[in-house]
Amino acid sequence: MSEDAPSNAAGSATITAAVPASPNSPQPRHIRLTSHSGGFGGLPIQWGAATARERGPVVGTTLNIGNRNVIGTHSGSYSVYRALAVAAGALKREHRADLTNTAPTDIIGPYPQWADPAKIVSLDPWGAVIADVYSNELAAGYDIRPTIAVTKAHVILPEVIEALQKGRLKPDGRFLTSGGAAVVTKVAVEPVWYLPGVARRFGCTEAALRRVLFEETGGMYPELVTRSDLEVFLPPIGGQTLYIFGNPRDLANPDVELTARVHDECNGSDVFGSDICTCRPYLTHAIEECIQGAQRGGVGLVAYSRKEGRALGEVTKFLVYNARKRQVGGDTADQYFARTECVAGVQDMRFQELMPDVLHWLGITKIHRLVSMSNMKYDAITGAGIEVGVRVNIPDELIPADARVEMDAKMAAGYFTPGAVPDAEELKLAKGRALNE
Ligand SMILES: [Zn+2]
Repeated sequence: MSEDAPSNAAGSATITAAVPASPNSPQPRHIRLTSHSGGFGGLPIQWGAATARERGPVVGTTLNIGNRNVIGTHSGSYSVYRALAVAAGALKREHRADLTNTAPTDIIGPYPQWADPAKIVSLDPWGAVIADVYSNELAAGYDIRPTIAVTKAHVILPEVIEALQKGRLKPDGRFLTSGGAAVVTKVAVEPVWYLPGVARRFGCTEAALRRVLFEETGGMYPELVTRSDLEVFLPPIGGQTLYIFGNPRDLANPDVELTARVHDECNGSDVFGSDICTCRPYLTHAIEECIQGAQRGGVGLVAYSRKEGRALGEVTKFLVYNARKRQVGGDTADQYFARTECVAGVQDMRFQELMPDVLHWLGITKIHRLVSMSNMKYDAITGAGIEVGVRVNIPDELIPADARVEMDAKMAAGYFTPGAVPDAEELKLAKGRALNE
């Protein structure tokens, strides 16, 4: 349909399909397609330029299509909810965010890494300070939105309170209150992809990446294949949240001890305490390490990525749990990855290639204590040129009994462990609980 639609003078195609009227407009409206190039008034983006001014703002507005200089729109997967809100008449399409008093509580950067188009390809380093650095464009009427927000919080976790009660942690009134609240700076980051850079990370051509993104999203973003002039994509995926313990500026100082964990989302364990994996115990252990690090005069970081179930999603994850526990011989570590691959086609879809970007954004050049056993994360971080001192494994007593299968399988597959790696015979021993237990 879009290929045959006539282009108007402004370069966008106009069709008069039978589109239901929105509750806000009594008559059926024309759809303005964004998939035809020519005649656009979007500001140029020079990815990796040294200053915000040279780089140019990311404009993903849906209001004035002529101003757009990216593919996709803001808020990641939540753009769909925004569409629902407009469809339901709860949100006016023309609403513009009032950014009064929303400025970051802490200034991050700019750092030299921001001016390297190969170091950061999956977020906008200037995303937190658009109101400041693009004030002229905002005043000129461009609808520019922050893709990063920085605020303060107190985080209160039962595991931290338990560590206080057992004497592993001590309150200092600065990083940890006597009531067990950790005082943090937290940062929300939405994905902003520079397609040529993302393609390079994955070792494919930009054309191939664009085509597959177009096809595998069911043709959701035609500009991927029709607008090669647009190099930036706002993908409909979850972003990242950073929790910083101590002074965020210290993250960029290699002389200040940095304790860090990069953690991938696991709703079942992280939030609900499901005991089939080690995700929450590892997360809370890392937070304990970060608090101790800050109290030693260092700084701590937990970078949390929305990549549920190895980025396979929870439905796939739960199907795999059933397949593991129902297989002949029960839930064993030697079949752990095979069962995932049977259902999902791959063992893991998290692909840590883009993960170090956020570390570059924070100016990090050295992680003194990496609280992770994942060889994939370690390889991605060191491969990105960030030095890693010691790797901190999860203490055995924090591993739930049912998660022993996962832990043994991962250690045999190359996860870091200071102890013995389980052998083939060990991996065959069923250790996971059955479904009806
Ligand atoms: Zn988990």
